[in-house]
Amino acid sequence: MLSIDKLRTGKFLNWAQNETAQQLNFHEPSSIEEISSIVEYVRAEKKTIRTVGAAHSFSPVAKPQHHSMSLHQLRGLISIDKEHRQATFWAGTYLHEIGPVLKQYGLALENMGDIAEQSIAGAISTGTHGTGLQLRSISNQVVKWGFIDGTGQYREVTRQENDGMSQALHLSLGLLGVIVQVTFQALPLYALSYTSQHCTIEETLKNASTIMGEHRHAEWFYFPGQEKMQLKTMDQLESPTIQTSRFQKWTDDFMENNVLQLLSTGCKIFPKASHLVSKVSARGVPTGTKEEYCYDIFPSPRKVKFLEMEYAVPIAYFEAVLEEIHFVLKSKPFHVHFPIEIRVAAGESGFLSPTQGADSAFFAFHMYKGMPHEAYFTWAHRLLEKYQARPHLGKMNQLTYETMQAKYAQLHDFLAIREQLDPQNVFVTNYFNELLKIK
Ligand SMILES: Cc1cc2nc3c(=O)[nH]c(=O)nc-3n(C[C@H](O)[C@H](O)[C@H](O)COP(=O)(O)OP(=O)(O)OC[C@H]3O[C@@H](n4cnc5c(N)ncnc54)[C@H](O)[C@@H]3O)c2cc1C
Repeated sequence: MLSIDKLRTGKFLNWAQNETAQQLNFHEPSSIEEISSIVEYVRAEKKTIRTVGAAHSFSPVAKPQHHSMSLHQLRGLISIDKEHRQATFWAGTYLHEIGPVLKQYGLALENMGDIAEQSIAGAISTGTHGTGLQLRSISNQVVKWGFIDGTGQYREVTRQENDGMSQALHLSLGLLGVIVQVTFQALPLYALSYTSQHCTIEETLKNASTIMGEHRHAEWFYFPGQEKMQLKTMDQLESPTIQTSRFQKWTDDFMENNVLQLLSTGCKIFPKASHLVSKVSARGVPTGTKEEYCYDIFPSPRKVKFLEMEYAVPIAYFEAVLEEIHFVLKSKPFHVHFPIEIRVAAGESGFLSPTQGADSAFFAFHMYKGMPHEAYFTWAHRLLEKYQARPHLGKMNQLTYETMQAKYAQLHDFLAIREQLDPQNVFVTNYFNELLKIK
């Protein structure tokens, strides 16, 4: 959970605690007019402002330089269009607040990621995604944006196909304005049946494409150097029949967090134990089935701190990437015990979307906080670079202006729209200045 108290003292610290800033002027507006005045004020001062969602990004995208702002006072449902199944929320709403509200209207989001602590605006600004080869990111579920641009003007944009403004707003990293209202295209409420099982790397290489075609959601965990993997699948139901008991939820949480915390602390003290922990984790994968409403089953608590990088590659490279990862990691070149998470997503159209134009597989690499991550992440980056990879921009990456240009054919279209909406670079911190060569 984001610490508003910390922001009130002028400090910024992200979830993974790898990005910090201080001596910030902090704002907590409670109306569109107030946001507009704040942006005008910062613009007149020739300073910069960043809106912080829940500070769950690993990259410096949310890191403020002069002014910071939270929309935590602008949360909740604004309106529902039952006929078109569209729901408009204040952009500061946390993802975990959406499901129970939509349920009352018999609606739900199409897909979600691993956790639900993020704010709506933060999640859609970095293209937060879940898994499912027929499904796209949370950004893709947005049909209308209401935002204050860099001149303080309030604008509304309705998504249209092949429209540059929609493609830019799709994943905008907070560079086009302060998003204040978001309209989602929802689905009729549904539940999911979840199954976790063991599989081997050989089976995955043989049947991954069948599995991702057969299930609404499919996700794999590869334990560094191990033959055994975990496969999680989920399929749609109208309503849940097997309710998970509170005890079961507590046990799952205990295993996923408390036991992992203990093992991680051990690995930090004795890095050589990482391989054994990876082996034990691969063998101890919890297996079974449960059913819940979708918004209850997508997220899990993540209490153990880690650093993460995640890159998307065209789906055709799924097997080649996995095979190469295993080939290298079985000789134990790094002390790492966190599994690599592999998810899939349908291609989408945002100018800066990592899955733009191609159904993709996401490979996510994690390192327990405090253990050296540089060599492992650099190796992973180089490996993925061979497969036309594009990073999740909210996670750690090694992008430069040159690689951004090479990977995002429409970067210039994005930057042209940005310049039009924020001519005085109110939202451009040093990080973006360096990455996108704006000033
Ligand atoms: C434990 C953990 C699990 C995660 N799981 C997943 C996952 O399953 N899938 C996935 O894709 N990602 C995942 N992420 C990454 C996370 O979803 C993204 O980094 C997301 O952007 C975080 O949302 P936030 O609200 O914390 O935004 P922040 O990190 O605070 O901000 C992200 C960006 O949004 C901008 N922003 C925030 N609010 C506004 C606004 N109102 N208007 C304009 N711009 C705004 C910020 O300036 C910044 O550029 C995970 C992260 C963590 C720490």
